[in-house]
Amino acid sequence: MDNASALAPADRDRVSTRVSLALLGVRSDAPVRRTGGAGPSDDGHFVVDGEGAAIPLNPNSPYVITASGRLTRDGADLGFDVAPVVRPKFYDLQTDEGVAYDKIAKLHGKNVLATTVVQTCVRYDESERCRFCAIEASLDAGTTIAVKTPAMLAEVAEAAVRLDGVTHMVMTTGTSNGWDRGAKHLARCVRAVKAAVPQLEIQVQCEPPADLQAITDLYDAGARSIGIHVESMDDDVRRRWMPGKSRVSMDEYRAAWREAVRVFGWNQVSTYLIVGMGEDPDEAVEGARELIEMGVYPFVVPFRPLKGTLATDVDKVPAPHRAVVDDITSRVAQLLHAAGMRGEDQKAGCAACGACSILKTAGA
Ligand code: SF4
Repeated sequence: MDNASALAPADRDRVSTRVSLALLGVRSDAPVRRTGGAGPSDDGHFVVDGEGAAIPLNPNSPYVITASGRLTRDGADLGFDVAPVVRPKFYDLQTDEGVAYDKIAKLHGKNVLATTVVQTCVRYDESERCRFCAIEASLDAGTTIAVKTPAMLAEVAEAAVRLDGVTHMVMTTGTSNGWDRGAKHLARCVRAVKAAVPQLEIQVQCEPPADLQAITDLYDAGARSIGIHVESMDDDVRRRWMPGKSRVSMDEYRAAWREAVRVFGWNQVSTYLIVGMGEDPDEAVEGARELIEMGVYPFVVPFRPLKGTLATDVDKVPAPHRAVVDDITSRVAQLLHAAGMRGEDQKAGCAACGACSILKTAGA
């Protein structure tokens, strides 16, 4: 079955529009947005037909949101309800020491609390750094702090749940030098947040720890989903785009994913796969198939040009072609659908949120 035939024509149009939105962005204000930070995103946050969507803000985009909350292009209504996510109340609070809550954690999508517990990375030297990452840019800009303590995170999470109805939390981290690659501090943070708000489900994100015991430690601390992000399964792409991280071998990733599935369960483990780093589309889809067979959700996202990254500032890499994003996303969605694997079945985290990917629109 080819990709186009897997979805009804109206649904195919919706996928196609979502892909274009992710690449061309939207002309709009967004009170909730990310500027810089870990990973590949620098977007405004919206609710599109009830689902969170992270969309680049682009004053030159052909896509416009009307005052009545409809998405239009050249005046034509495209059939989507769109509203910017409103500024959460917890952003107005600060700790007793005077640290603004929004420097400790941010609202993502419509109901996710996200934080980078350690905002520095051992791989941030220019020769080592992942070329899509701007983890220390927000630190340099003063919009976050270097290390979030467990107590700070517990305080902010409690407020975000109480005041803004946040339902899950993502904790990511820059990579440390130690055997745990940052997992130890993550586990302490998870434990503190779960003690303050036991109902809040948490996803942790880290590199494969050198000692796989760290995965059990994260689960025991209270995390219920985990992201171990490879970004590409192709070693040539990995070496070009992630000179430091590519020294963690694919064998180490596979061992960590297997252990994570054993500990966290089928479809509670995920990895980012970024489209637009020069990968072969068929090989990317085969990589996703291998992950799915392992019980790991491949969270497919388009590469987004992002100021503060080497890919954008130095390499001038453009956004990928929309046909490639549409093709890989649709084929992976089909594989996920066939395996009965849905992002929304993850307890917490990026696959559950889905805002940075088009997989949900494509039925996964
Ligand atoms: S998919 Fe992940 S990174 Fe993107 S908005 Fe949702 S929680 Fe944040």
